[in-house]
Amino acid sequence: MTSSLLSDANRRLERALKYVHISEDASERLKFPKASLKVSIPVRMDDGSLRVFEGYRVRYDDTRGPTKGGIRFHPNVTMDEVQSLAFWMTFKCAAVNLPFGGAKGGITLNPKALSKFELERLSRGYVDAIADFIGPDIDIPAPDVYTNPMIMGWMMDQYSIIRRQLSPAVITGKPIGMGGSQGRNTATGVGAFQVLVAMMRKFDKAPAATTVAVQGFGNAGSVVARLLFDAGYQVVAVSDSHGGVYCDRGLDIPSLQQFKASTRNLQAVYCEGTVCNLVDGHETITNDELLTLNVDVLIPAALENQITAANAPQIQAKYIFEVANGPITSAGDRILEDKGVYVFPDILVNAGGVTVSYFEWVQNRSGLYWSEAEVGDRLQTKMVAEAEKIWSVSHNLAIPMRTAAYVHALERLEEAHSARGTRDYYVS
Ligand code: NAD
Repeated sequence: MTSSLLSDANRRLERALKYVHISEDASERLKFPKASLKVSIPVRMDDGSLRVFEGYRVRYDDTRGPTKGGIRFHPNVTMDEVQSLAFWMTFKCAAVNLPFGGAKGGITLNPKALSKFELERLSRGYVDAIADFIGPDIDIPAPDVYTNPMIMGWMMDQYSIIRRQLSPAVITGKPIGMGGSQGRNTATGVGAFQVLVAMMRKFDKAPAATTVAVQGFGNAGSVVARLLFDAGYQVVAVSDSHGGVYCDRGLDIPSLQQFKASTRNLQAVYCEGTVCNLVDGHETITNDELLTLNVDVLIPAALENQITAANAPQIQAKYIFEVANGPITSAGDRILEDKGVYVFPDILVNAGGVTVSYFEWVQNRSGLYWSEAEVGDRLQTKMVAEAEKIWSVSHNLAIPMRTAAYVHALERLEEAHSARGTRDYYVS
């Protein structure tokens, strides 16, 4: 295995394999992505120059259904990262029992440096390059870091132009007017909140007595922060890429949200305001400080590899809910486990996004559209049921929630692999 992130993910798989019987065929297959595509995307820039961007799409495993996973626009996107995220998507879809395999995509760039016109040309160019690799029954992309409904809409439109038929089910996270689902934009945060509330009940800790720090005040992080605030939790710190704010009495999350929204610079497509600009009555803190605050609950909701062997010893939170994908390295994980920290893993906690993406795909294919309340109810039923099942696996086998989530997902993946016949079937 050449890739470091993917090896890290594989270490987690190997650990889970100790607790569940999986055929050699399935475990061998799951070590490798099914197909990895690297493309170059030439884009005519506003000043007339031509710039070529590198893009990726990886389909990890499609045994349980067409592959599914987001598209990330970020300077750090590499094939290694995309393969690891596609691996996680495979386990996430299985963990919450969606009829999908895992995939991921990305383009290496700083999207904030592009104009709206350039971003649209780039998004359409990416679809031109990967059109034969995706499709409603093959691979269905969605938004991820620094991609949004507008970008998904451009991509769906471009795919429909290529296929000469309207194909809303090729991509999820679209604007409502283009076949998007009610509740998709907030689904990751809502799902994470539903899991957090269900799991925290087990520890008998009242919301008002529970302090929370959220790293990443973006699409997912700001929604969880807001729902926790509304439910009476003490959200004492939040941050974004510029840094964070802290207030021991609890932050006024609706004001922070309003502030970010009011400074939104539409020229740039992305929100340009930062939580740090709102300093009245708040202390500013760095992201490193936020992670090691003395709080009950820590919610990493920004990027991967934020908690490592270097800072895990200083983590004071007792419960960590991973809204970001892979925010804790496996070395960091071991230290937290020794300290007795409960880590609720990404493949469960942030599965609300892909679950409502699945609902969107179902609605696009059936032509029947659901209300936001119906989407929320279906999401709640699924998230809480799967969280409870993983909690039971964790208790029955006396293993951490992360390993339990992998065991739970592996049982479903094994079922799909063995249904096609494994060595045991052919040579017994
Ligand atoms: P987003 O772009 O809306 O928000 C990301 C936030 O993180 C921004 O506020 C940004 O300023 C902040 N950030 C970036 N670097 C940071 C750093 N070093 N320290 C602190 N904050 C930093 O993205 P999102 O959609 O909210 O996704 C966040 C995480 O959740 C990602 O790991 C993503 O893969 C994961 N996730 C998102 C979804 C979804 O549906 N949005 C679904 C599943 C998982």
